[in-house]
Amino acid sequence: MVQKNSGGLSQKMPVLFLGHGSPLNAIENNEFEKGWVKIASELPRPRAVLCVSAHWYTEKTSVTNIKAPGTIHDFYGFPEELNILEYNAPGAPELAKQIKEILQSVKTGLDNTRGLDHGTWVVLRRMYPKADIPVVQLAIDSTLSPKRQFELGRELAVLRKKGVLIIGSGNVVHNLMLMDMDSGPFSWAVEFDSFVKQSLVNGDTRALINIEKHRDFSRAHPTTEHYPPLLYALGAAEGEKPYFSVEKIFAGSLSMRCVVWK
Ligand code: ZN
Repeated sequence: MVQKNSGGLSQKMPVLFLGHGSPLNAIENNEFEKGWVKIASELPRPRAVLCVSAHWYTEKTSVTNIKAPGTIHDFYGFPEELNILEYNAPGAPELAKQIKEILQSVKTGLDNTRGLDHGTWVVLRRMYPKADIPVVQLAIDSTLSPKRQFELGRELAVLRKKGVLIIGSGNVVHNLMLMDMDSGPFSWAVEFDSFVKQSLVNGDTRALINIEKHRDFSRAHPTTEHYPPLLYALGAAEGEKPYFSVEKIFAGSLSMRCVVWK
């Protein structure tokens, strides 16, 4: 009972998993960016954002430790307008050091050079266009098992009571090779996306951690970096009921699903 009261009405920040999709979502007007704007409008204003993006996928656990992170344009083949876009949110070196201390179970490096990748700034530009909320990024440590990635999220959960909005930014289904702008959602993509949704609704953490056993995993994730942000977010929101603010599969094989735990 005590737990229910303090959990339900405390000032804990929500946790998000955002399907970020194409960098064009930074500048186009579409249902995805509108979904992100709506999510932001329904949240308390965060003191800072901690983002775990698919686009910082490396072999160690690191956190950005820089006062004024640059904007990384880590894509090609897009309009020049995108290549020159800047998102000048401040960093939060104090928070970075706090995260290093919180993550007891893994050695965490402080990265003094890295800025914000597009998995982070594309969504934040729409959610917080004034760029006035400090942002740090935590790298996905690809040497860790999915279970350990989930556990790091769980360790980070303490930050929610300090006004930090934890965001995992990836995609539940991410097969760029099979994308077809003229196609509706592929049936295997719908099935995989629904399986993840249902596992989230059911609180079936084990199924989400063992997702590689799903028969369509390698089709949904021919490269694996867009799934782990969900595990970090799930860990930070352990035991809480999610809701889904965006549910759409774009161009056949890109799930733009967004998950909110609050
Ligand atoms: Zn991406």
